[in-house]
Amino acid sequence: MKVAVLALQGAFIEHEQVLQHLGVETVEIRQLRDWQSCYSHPVGGQADAVAGLILPGGESTVQMRLLRELGLLAPIRQAISNGLPVFGTCAGMILLSEGRLGTMDIRVRRNAYGRQLGSFHTIGSVKGIGDDVPMTFIRAPYIEEVTSADCEVLSVVDGHIVAARQGRQLATAFHPELTEQQAPSGELSTASRDISRQSLLDNDTRLHQYFLSLCE
Ligand code: GLN
Repeated sequence: MKVAVLALQGAFIEHEQVLQHLGVETVEIRQLRDWQSCYSHPVGGQADAVAGLILPGGESTVQMRLLRELGLLAPIRQAISNGLPVFGTCAGMILLSEGRLGTMDIRVRRNAYGRQLGSFHTIGSVKGIGDDVPMTFIRAPYIEEVTSADCEVLSVVDGHIVAARQGRQLATAFHPELTEQQAPSGELSTASRDISRQSLLDNDTRLHQYFLSLCE
């Protein structure tokens, strides 16, 4: 199986490492040409086409601007509407929300935990996965409201929705690709750089496996 990872900005390498650890081939999407050469509609219609797409954490405003400038916004939105499985983490979840790509019926609040609580780690429950899921939040959003019955809430932490699924779209406010040891005191860039192979092997890959099951 091959999965595309949006690689414009943010923590995309960590997703690639988790996927590769799970035996999945990855393709970086940096420009329209990358997308055109790996996406086919209908999904699954072409043997070497990607089976899904990951939208990583980072800075959603920067990612939105780059998606627009590179001409990627409309084709990616169309692909998701056509049924391509997608997994958005943190900024990636923001991209899926109303007013951005808008493919998920969720309204999100950016930087929702304030400056002090912007980055923290907890163990929470995710429906379909378990009640011991490690969650790393970095200047995280949460879902203020799920606006249609098609969208299922998968996880609530401290009264706030932090994971949801709508068909083959999965979104988490936290970073399942980063472990507790990698959670930085403030900056995502620190987390992105300091990852080690060993800590990845200790990583919890259940959310990625859940996403891969949506890609099959
Ligand atoms: N605060 C970022 C945003 O609003 C998200 C942070 C992250 O992806 N870790 O885009």
